[in-house]
Amino acid sequence: MLKTFKGGLHVNDNKNTRNCPIENFPSPAKVAIPMQQHIGAPAQPLVAKGDYVKKGQLIGNFETGLSCPIHASISGTVADIEMRNSYTGYGKTAHIVIENDYTDTPDDNIKTFDGDIFTATSEEIVELVRRAGICGQGGAAFPTYAKIQSAIGKASEIIINCAECEPYITENHRLMLEEPEKIIGGARILMHATYTEHMTIAIENNKMDAVEVMTKNTAEYENISVQVLKTKYPQGDERQLMYVIKGVELPAGKLPADVGCVIFNAETCVSVYNAIYEGMPLISTVLTVDGDAVNTPKNLRAPVGTRISDILDYCGGSTDNLSKIVSGGPMMGQAQWDMNAVVMKNTSAFLFLSDKTQSNDEGDCIHCGRCVGVCPMHLMPNYLAAFSKKDDKVLAEEFGILSCVECGSCTYICPGNVPIVQYIRTTKGAILAEKRKAAQKAKESEAKS
Ligand code: SF4
Ligand code: SF4
Repeated sequence: MLKTFKGGLHVNDNKNTRNCPIENFPSPAKVAIPMQQHIGAPAQPLVAKGDYVKKGQLIGNFETGLSCPIHASISGTVADIEMRNSYTGYGKTAHIVIENDYTDTPDDNIKTFDGDIFTATSEEIVELVRRAGICGQGGAAFPTYAKIQSAIGKASEIIINCAECEPYITENHRLMLEEPEKIIGGARILMHATYTEHMTIAIENNKMDAVEVMTKNTAEYENISVQVLKTKYPQGDERQLMYVIKGVELPAGKLPADVGCVIFNAETCVSVYNAIYEGMPLISTVLTVDGDAVNTPKNLRAPVGTRISDILDYCGGSTDNLSKIVSGGPMMGQAQWDMNAVVMKNTSAFLFLSDKTQSNDEGDCIHCGRCVGVCPMHLMPNYLAAFSKKDDKVLAEEFGILSCVECGSCTYICPGNVPIVQYIRTTKGAILAEKRKAAQKAKESEAKS
């Protein structure tokens, strides 16, 4: 029997682009590269207006704390450094605008690793991954060097997350079919760096062709196995993967490393492979372009900083009834309000949806309990939405709002059309902001005394 978790739901997966090979997006006339594309502090720009930059050149960096270096995705001239709203909720962030000279001149520092990477120390790999600006490409964009560091000495199992449970998105599926050696090669480097003993590659059973390819390509490694999972949303969430593969429920506030595991996304492994064997930092990403309001759905590999409008033009434009653009999947993605929003390191999809698939009329709870049945975190989403509506943060926290993984299953199933996850997100954000403020205050008064 296929393994799965408690709760969750079966959604129409709409994997319309599963047979669309990855196309290289033509180098755009202009890119705008955000200095904040990751969890942690923003990088600081290292270039100024008028500078010439080469493809792969370091253009943003940090000195201390958690952050991620940023590199130029094309060669050309810095036209401007603009403060713009971030398109993923990071607030205002500097964007380095580069005008393309179409020469694709590579930076002089792009060099492959000299020697056998499997003789390198963990510290050396951490530094190579950090310098390549790699962050998780499955969602949260946590800097990968820091994830490796946090797993050393704690994790014995590495899980490669190829579940790709969000509807529409097929980029990991295509990578497994087209570049399995890069996923496996990068994953083996991460395994070496984290001293983990066993690797599980987790794939849902709606991608059996990928299961076949990955099984064949890992047959020579005794310590790597491919685990087929039941197709169910949100199977790709780290907590559900942990439960299914290791049989452990991750306590709230704990990380997979706390129970002996470390999880990396499939495309993150490809980026590690590219950094080591091609010397290339993370400057492009694979994304699915789909939805009922785009003319030609595709899978693309596009430079970081490419505008949504350029991506849409390349995909034949939109239909007349385009009503919503989403970055990411329809369950957890973020609505975009600006065609100047750009491709980021962790962009997995742009969805163009028509008014037929959208309902903007908020309804009332009819107390059916369906949201409780599907919540994979065993919460009471109806209560959390009601407390959030009343701005009762105390009760919301008592009822576990901080354990919500924002998977959107409750909103999807709700017959009352209550935007449950939107309410939860707002209240969670406010509670976390209050906590950060209190911690900062405590730190400051401690420093004074
Ligand atoms: S699914 Fe919607 S209508 Fe049903 S209990 Fe939950 S919030 Fe209320
Ligand atoms: S309450 Fe949170 S974790 Fe539970 S179904 Fe809703 S969004 Fe998902």
